[in-house]
This record gives sequence, C-alpha cells and structure tokens, in this order.
Amino acid sequence: LISLLRSPLDDLDPEQRAAAAAVSGGHVVIAGAGTGKTRTLTARIAHLVRERGVDPSSIVGTTFTNKAAREIRERVGAVTGDAAAALRLGTFHSLGARILRRHASAAGFQDRSFVVLPQSEAAELLQRIVEEQRLVRAVPLPDCDPALSDEDWERLSAAADGDRRRETAAFVREAARAIARWKSWGLTAPMVADPSRGRRDQGQEAFAATYLAYQRALEARNMADFGDLVLKALVLLEDDPRVSRAEAGSVAHLLVDEAQDANAVQVRFARALAASAESVFAVGDENQNIMAFQGAYPGAMQAIAGPGATLHVLTRNRRCTDEILRPANEVVRWNRGSRRGALVSGRSGPAPQVVAYDSEVAEAHGIAKAAKQLIADGTDPSKIAVLVRSAWVLKPYEEAFLRAKVPFAVVGGRNALDREEAKDVVAFLRLATSPRDDLAFRRIANKPARGLGQAVVEAVVGHVSASGRTFHEACLAVAEAGHLEPRACEGLEILAEGLRLLYARAAGTKPDGLVEIAVTRTGYEEHLDRSEGDRKERRATVAMLRRSARDAEDLTEFLETLALMSDLEFEGLREGARVKISTIHAAKGLEFDEVFLPCWESGVFPNPRAVDEGVRGRPGDPWNGPIGGGVDEERRLAHVALTRARHGVHVSYATARIGFGAFLGAGPSALLAEADLELTAAPNGDLRPAKATRSSRMPAARGRR
Ligand code: ATP
Ligand code: MG
Repeated sequence: LISLLRSPLDDLDPEQRAAAAAVSGGHVVIAGAGTGKTRTLTARIAHLVRERGVDPSSIVGTTFTNKAAREIRERVGAVTGDAAAALRLGTFHSLGARILRRHASAAGFQDRSFVVLPQSEAAELLQRIVEEQRLVRAVPLPDCDPALSDEDWERLSAAADGDRRRETAAFVREAARAIARWKSWGLTAPMVADPSRGRRDQGQEAFAATYLAYQRALEARNMADFGDLVLKALVLLEDDPRVSRAEAGSVAHLLVDEAQDANAVQVRFARALAASAESVFAVGDENQNIMAFQGAYPGAMQAIAGPGATLHVLTRNRRCTDEILRPANEVVRWNRGSRRGALVSGRSGPAPQVVAYDSEVAEAHGIAKAAKQLIADGTDPSKIAVLVRSAWVLKPYEEAFLRAKVPFAVVGGRNALDREEAKDVVAFLRLATSPRDDLAFRRIANKPARGLGQAVVEAVVGHVSASGRTFHEACLAVAEAGHLEPRACEGLEILAEGLRLLYARAAGTKPDGLVEIAVTRTGYEEHLDRSEGDRKERRATVAMLRRSARDAEDLTEFLETLALMSDLEFEGLREGARVKISTIHAAKGLEFDEVFLPCWESGVFPNPRAVDEGVRGRPGDPWNGPIGGGVDEERRLAHVALTRARHGVHVSYATARIGFGAFLGAGPSALLAEADLELTAAPNGDLRPAKATRSSRMPAARGRR
C-alpha cells in the first residue's frame, strides 16, 4: 500500500529521475554497468502509467530475457496494480512471435499455432535438407580397381562415407551460421538469392540455395526458426499497412533495455514499431556489447533512439564496490575507441582474489569449497554465481558442486529445449497441435524402443505426406499393410494409441494435463528410466516441464514459451535456492553478491577462436562481415563478468586443463595483466609467478590513453 502512494520516481537519484521523466522524442541512456539503467527504465514505465495516465497496452518494452520482462512487469505492478498486465513486454523474439500469431496468414503461416523450432532442431532440419538435396558435393571414390579386395573396398567406402559425413556436418554448421547472420541483417532468402544484390563467391551461392530450401521446408511444416520471428515480423510491419496500423499504430512509448546488443534486424524492428510513437527510450552500455556473434554492432543504441535523440548519462555505479570497479575499468581501457570515464561507486569492500590452481579439478573443488563456506557464513546460495567464458568448461564445476553437496543450477547459455528429454516431450506435444509434424514424429517414434526400423518410420512419414492424414492414422495404416515383424506392428499400434489420446485431448486439456499424457501414456516414462545417463536429472527436467506447463493457458502459448525460454529461466524452475553456474553471456543484466570467475587462462579466455573470427571479414558487410567482436569483445566480457558482483570477486585459473579430451597448456590469461589483477593466493602449494604478462595474441593497446 505504501508503494502505491509513493511516486515511482522517488526511488531514483536526480540523474536517473531526469532520464525517466523525459517526455516525448528519442532518448538514449548510455551508461556503465550497474548505474541503474534497468531500474530507470522500469521506473519510467511505472511513471508513464501512473502519473501520465498512459494506456499500458500502448507501452512496449524489450528486454534481454523473458524473465527480465516478467520482473519489470512485477515491479511496475507493485506501483500500478493490475494495469501492468496490459504492458507489452518481452524479448525481441517474443514480441515478434506475438505479431506473427496475430497476423499468421499475412505472414505466410498455415495458422496461428505455427511451431517455433528450437535452434538444435533447426540444425537437424538443415542437415536433412542438405542431405536430401545433395548440396554437398559427393566425395569421389577411386576408380574401381579390380585388384581391390572386398575388404579394401569396404574400408575405402567407409572412409569416403566418413569424409562425406564430416564434410556435410561442416557445411551444415557454416550454412546455419550464414543463414542466422543473413537473418540478423534483415535479409530474406529471396533477397539473398537475388544475384543483383551483392558480390558472392561459390560457397555463398551454395549457402544461399540452402537458405531458400530451408525456408521452403519450414513453411511446408508451418514452422519458424528463431531468426524468422523478428525478420518476418519486420517484413510485415514494413510491407503490410494493415499490420503496421494494428501493431505499430498502437505504440505510444517504446523502451529498449540492453540496446547495445541489438542487431540490424532488431533495430529496424524497433524503429518500425515506434513509427508513430511519442517517445523512444533506449538504454545500454557500449562496454557491455557482447553479442557481435549475433550481429550486434556499434551504434545500435543511437539508431534505435533515432536521429536527434537526447543523450542521458548516469555516472554512479550502484552495484559494485570500487575494488571491483578498478579492474573492470582497467580491462576495457585497452579497447579501441574506449571513451567513457571510469565507473565509481564510492562503496568499499574486499579486494578481488586471484587464485592459481594445478588443474581444472583442483580449481573446481576450490570454488565449491569456498562457495560452501560462504553459504555456511550466511550468504544465500542464489546470490552466488560461477561465471565462465565458454560452456565447454562447465563440467568440472558441476561435478565439484555435486560432490560438495552445494545446491547448484548449471546454465549453459543455451535454451531450455536443448535438453534431450525436453525435446522429446515437446515433440509429443507438437504432434498434438500439428499432427503432420514429421520432425517431431521421427524424434519420438522409437522412444521407448518399439522395434521400428528407419524404413518403417519413413514409410509412416511417407504415408502422411502422400495422404495428408495424421500420424495416428498413418501408424495404423502401415501396421495393417503387413510385411512387418509382429513387434514393430505392435509398436506402431501402441504409438498410434498414444497419439490418438493426445489429439483427442489436445483441445480440451490444459498444457500440464497434456504433458502428463505425453509422459505417462506413450511409454515415454519407461524410456526415461531405461536410457543411459543420469536418471534423476532426466526426471528433474520432466518435473520442470510440468511445473512450467502449469502457468500456461494453452498449448501453443506453452510451446512458444518453452522454445524461447533461456536455460537460465528453465533452471530457475528447480526447487530451492541454488548457486548459478553459468556462462558470462547468460548473466547479462544480473547481479550477485559473490562471483567466481574461473578459467582466466590463455587458450580459454580470451577465446582464441572468437579473437580470430572477429578479425576476419569486412565490418559492416552482410556477405563477408566479421562474426565476432575480436579481442575487444573478450575484454568487454571480462568487464561484464566483473561487474556482476556486488561484494566479492574470486578470479582463478588452472595451470593445466583437460578439454576436448586433451591436455591444454593453460596458464594465466593476458586479461589478468590487462585488468591489473595480481595473484593473491595459490592454495595448491607453491606460489606461482605473481605477474601474468600480456600474450602476443593481444593486439597493442589502441584505446589506452
Ligand atoms: P547492467 O548494466 O548490469 O544491466 P544497470 O545499469 O541496468 O546494470 P540496475 O540493474 O538497474 O543497473 O541497477 C544496479 C543495482 O543498483 C540494482 O540492484 C539496483 O536496484 C540498484 N540501484 C540502482 N539505482 C539505485 C538508486 N537510485 N538507489 C538505490 N539503488 C539503486
Ligand atoms: Mg540492466
């Protein structure tokens, strides 16, 4: 009640208040980590609704995760009450999806329940297309040599098959990147295939052909991938006056958080949405631009706010201690064009620790032990994070926390649906809404094992595409046609029964009820218990799915929420407070009391591949642009990582690490020297050389004044 009486601007300092209360026009708040950008944006929304009488449904806000959007809605709701429910808040992807569902046929979908294909499955579809269309050149076998024994021949064929598979996999990986990049630049398949639009080499011709084939395959299945959600919505907004009137015409105020990480298509989408808006408010920090690999580019913030926008700055960091800000400031000072002054908070705390370990195992145990101590001393586990540069190093930390019995959740920086069990359950549910979804059918046909060979599965798929019937009917038809082993026949019948039940209940049952049917009535539960790996973990995933299903109104909404749900959010569905073990990328915008930053090692962080890829290519060129931000972006990642901490920072490195099944020569990262961080302890025995040196990999400091 008290909060209902106070002004939403009362919680801000004068700088923040000036920005939050700014009225019409473009506004860009460019300010450092933890200076209260998100808080200011949230207060502005509450202020608009409560004190300026703005209709909440005319306010659109974009955030980095849907969870962040929910938090803003809750905070605004505390001030405005029910009105907050009408706010249009979400990630660019979920805002795009919302527009596409409302104008599904204009967007070329068969109906509004189109499926959002998770990234990993999009790659599978791409692979299928490449194989079907033989987009990769066949590897020629040597001319048949009569002297070749059968054995030699087989060996050669197998090797050629292996080569071909490897070549296909590499092609698929590159094509997926090219397509994602084109989408992030706002280029549709027909645009890319149009030869008058730019230079291309032969490799790109092949990718362009793959892009066209891939979009056709998605359309035929009533599917969209991630990149489509924003791109297709943008095309509608720009080309269809009816859609633009309905969607953009009703936007009075647009607010964009983490604007520094918007890519070209998102910037255009934001501009199109705000076409007739009274104000645009973009907040961001160029020192936290860490999404270059997804097409983010310098200048996005200003572009969203529009020409002539008013610049606001927030100068005081409200999160970290000055001891933490010192290395965070240092490390980005080495960057080209680094301009802004140093961040200060005026708060003091312990100096950052830098610890060296003998191995990645020792490092993981050291961290688990230290986290356990912090918890014993009263720190809430959810206020502790372990943040790493790359997901591939996560394993040892997971194992160490398990052993130390410290509650934790691992966030790989990917999506909820990258988990096998989640994909399986979702495949059943997808079949309930789209009874002709062949990708979903192939995934679950043999879970549990029903003795259905590939030929049988393809026969069912073929039957569906030829007859237009559902998978339930096709299973029965193929079983009746005979020529099958009794076991396969029975398997098909059981599968058909499970599918029939799902179709029958799809309309009248809430999503959690359908998850229940998918898990218990199709034999999937037994499959879970029988298959390899950690049974408890698989059961936990299914329990999390059930939990999130309870919040959803209808199946389409639930499937979309899941497809767009970050790992971080999905892990949040676990019970109890947990230490977050996560990638730095996934921790964007978050804060913790204590942050562990392991793997500050040469070869891991800075990530040599990212450094390399950032250097290649012509900046600003959609055909041949760089795909990473280079070493500068690695420094920004270090800056983001350090500035997540409110109180304690614990940096560490191992002098040897096993990764990808091999010994990696490790050793202190050059970032340590750049951040001016010195070794404070080596718990594994002897004290190592205290001062790390800048490696030859790091280009000369250009931005340093
Ligand atoms: P990031 O760049 O990491 O996204 P940010 O600029 O969005 O950070 P916030 O997350 O909004 O910063 O704020 C950082 C912390 O400081 C939060 O805990 C927030 O509640 C607190 N904070 C911000 N402004 C104030 C204020 N005026 N008074 C008290 N606390 C504040
Ligand atoms: Mg923020």
